Amino acid sequence: MKEPRAGETAFVALGSNLGDRRAHLERAVVALGDVTGTRVVRVSRWIETAPVGGPPGQPAFLNGVLELSSRLEPSTLLERLQEIEAHHGRGRDREPRHGPRTLDLDLLLFGERRLESARLTLPHPRLEERLFVLGPLAELAPELVLPCSGLTVRARVAELARAPAGAAR
Ligand code: ADP
Ligand code: MG
Repeated sequence: MKEPRAGETAFVALGSNLGDRRAHLERAVVALGDVTGTRVVRVSRWIETAPVGGPPGQPAFLNGVLELSSRLEPSTLLERLQEIEAHHGRGRDREPRHGPRTLDLDLLLFGERRLESARLTLPHPRLEERLFVLGPLAELAPELVLPCSGLTVRARVAELARAPAGAAR
């Protein structure tokens, strides 16, 4: 029998700023653990962050990152993430882009894969600008080298923390 394909390391960003934010994130972790061909390896702490972009006055986010080992294709994993978002009450038609959302799941990195399709860009195009993603990612993988800047996650976090606020979205 053919050996099963080894899992690739993927990182997913989680965010919520509506309702019981912690419950949304924690249920998403459980749901991800139930995805066939995918194992949750580690989960960062949840951090509270100010909203970036979107309509003014929206509530603060709770954000985190988790590491997966997945044998799925990246596009299939994205489908699973979007199903989980939908099951947790997110209405893509109702909730504006960058606006308040019960649950946002973004695929940050999938092994070394690079992809640019209408549905999925890998690495996530705004990964290296977002402190609310890089902070939790630094907890899990501080020495991971970021594909665009060539900096480690730790170094990029330090760089962004020094830079004036306002660039990230
Ligand atoms: P955002 O996360 O930027 O606030 P959405 O969650 O509404 O916005 O995502 C918008 C679209 O981005 C989705 O329909 C999805 O197909 C696309 N997309 C492209 N690349 C990715 C990625 N790496 N992770 C998640 N969504 C992605
Ligand atoms: Mg998203």
